[in-house]
Amino acid sequence: MPLTNENVRDVLSTVQDPELHQDLVSLNMVKEIRVDQKQVFITIELTTPACPMKDHIQKDIEQAVNRKAEELGESLDSIQVNFTADVRKPNEKIRDEDNPLPNVKHIIAVGAGKGGVGKSTVAVNLAIGLARHGASVGLLDGDIYGPSLSTMLGLSNMEPTAEDKMLAPFNVHGIKTMTVGRLVKPEEPLIWRGPMAHNAFQQLALQTNWGSLDYLIVDLPPGTGDVPLTLAQLLPLSGAIVVCTPQKVAQDDAVRAVAMFIQLGIDVLGIVENMSYFIGDDGKEYDIFGKGGAAEMAQHLQLPCLGHIPINMALRKNCDDGNPTANFDDNDALAEELNHFAQQVAAQISIKASSGKTVQPTISIS
Ligand code: ADP
Repeated sequence: MPLTNENVRDVLSTVQDPELHQDLVSLNMVKEIRVDQKQVFITIELTTPACPMKDHIQKDIEQAVNRKAEELGESLDSIQVNFTADVRKPNEKIRDEDNPLPNVKHIIAVGAGKGGVGKSTVAVNLAIGLARHGASVGLLDGDIYGPSLSTMLGLSNMEPTAEDKMLAPFNVHGIKTMTVGRLVKPEEPLIWRGPMAHNAFQQLALQTNWGSLDYLIVDLPPGTGDVPLTLAQLLPLSGAIVVCTPQKVAQDDAVRAVAMFIQLGIDVLGIVENMSYFIGDDGKEYDIFGKGGAAEMAQHLQLPCLGHIPINMALRKNCDDGNPTANFDDNDALAEELNHFAQQVAAQISIKASSGKTVQPTISIS
């Protein structure tokens, strides 16, 4: 008996998204089914273009459809699975009605317990990694005390422009970005008292014409200060990522950063370990600061460990030169780790969005 469109739909309702733990039909991911003689065409809409489970899903679909065809005594010539992606917003009903950035689907904060652990480096590479998968991405330099995105993204020769009191973000490396580093003179000290910090951050976040974005990454200042508080009050966040290095002392700070996000009512999407290991010219891996500390800490805190980014001279140089896309150009261990990290973040966001949970701004200052 020939295979029909209905047979294929039935089969797809038995194939699970491995991370969302629901079948593809219930998740409304099946956008096209066409059986043309012995050929089957299927279009699946993923919840993020950076889905790490694409190959897994494809294999499961092929196996399930072939099994059904065999049952019906049919042999297929080919099964073509096409993937598209549409980043889903969190459940609208519980989202704050007066969200000031309604065209931004997900806002993700990147924080760290202390400076120098590579928080900005991680934020930049996350934004570019997601964009290279096809997502529309913005990167806000929320580190208003020590903005480094101007250097890391090579913005120093670009002048900010404004229209109707809105700043136009810089379009660089496939992302949109804004930093206070391009609005003040480089030598000017950035001294903000609490309310000034609040206003500066608010202006950068809300008076930048971000347009429609799948993900807006916010690089926070290190530690636990005014800016995370403002952020939590101002915007509905999909979650935060905490960056740490493998040493024990760094982990103590990271635990504090996790506690701060929890206290602010912000979900922590996971921990990423930066400066994890070093690959020498001899090809050997050296664990300069130890290794695996972040994974252990994440496990202890029952949080996902989102990745391990190696100490890498090219990474440092590319960031200093304002050329971070080069980190992804060589198909090496660095590019692989950065891609893996971006995909893990995208997956965590999809999981959160499918559970309909977006953190609402609930903090009020008396
Ligand atoms: P933070 O934002 O935590 O203060 P940065 O991202 O500014 O830290 O990084 C501090 C310095 O360390 C920068 O010069 C950056 O290029 C470098 N760096 C960060 N991560 C790495 C890494 N994995 N390998 C090599 N250099 C790194």
